[in-house]
Amino acid sequence: MARYTGPVCKLCRREGQKLFLKGTKCYTEKCPIERRNYAPGQHGLTQVRRRKTSEYAQQLREKQKVKRIYGVSEKYFRTMFVRAAKQAGVTGENLLIGLELRLDNVLYRMNFASSRKQARQIVRHRHVLVNGERVDIPSYQVSPGDEVRLHEGSKDLLPVQVSLESKTRPSAVRWLAVDEGTRAGRMLERPTRADIPLAVQEQLIVELYSK
Ligand code: SF4
Repeated sequence: MARYTGPVCKLCRREGQKLFLKGTKCYTEKCPIERRNYAPGQHGLTQVRRRKTSEYAQQLREKQKVKRIYGVSEKYFRTMFVRAAKQAGVTGENLLIGLELRLDNVLYRMNFASSRKQARQIVRHRHVLVNGERVDIPSYQVSPGDEVRLHEGSKDLLPVQVSLESKTRPSAVRWLAVDEGTRAGRMLERPTRADIPLAVQEQLIVELYSK
């Protein structure tokens, strides 16, 4: 299935928690999940009443949640899982780290975009250089030592300024060194699971795909 392009608040309501998919707007606008904390659609409320969830449903929801947080398609997510399973170490952690190393996510973590969706658009529109070369592929895997910077003519893009000036922006991450003035940053090392501030149980995704 292709990447979802519909209303993102529905995705948060489906997962029953705030996924902060609209960046700074999640703090400045009224969040629908605070008023209607049940799944969207005709049967949303019925599902809340039927509290029991199977093991499979829990695993599926966890997978959907991670997919939606990073804004990736099912096919891509599956590919990342297969790659993670071939690597040494814990598969679930490898999967999250692989997603974290995407160029759009790195831009988001550097606070040059207030959401991954916005970061994806900035990359797509060719505003980003990696080691001096333009890269317009949001899934590009950033490696330790790589320098990510905004193109000279793109430093004062409105979304970048809004993100950097936001009082609600996420705190800096240990594995990235960022110079906000020059709109550039460098990846110092690969992140570990402890560096990824996501409350997800990645083991459930491994169990789902191992069936
Ligand atoms: Fe999710 Fe943000 Fe919409 Fe709230 S406002 S439902 S956190 S995307």
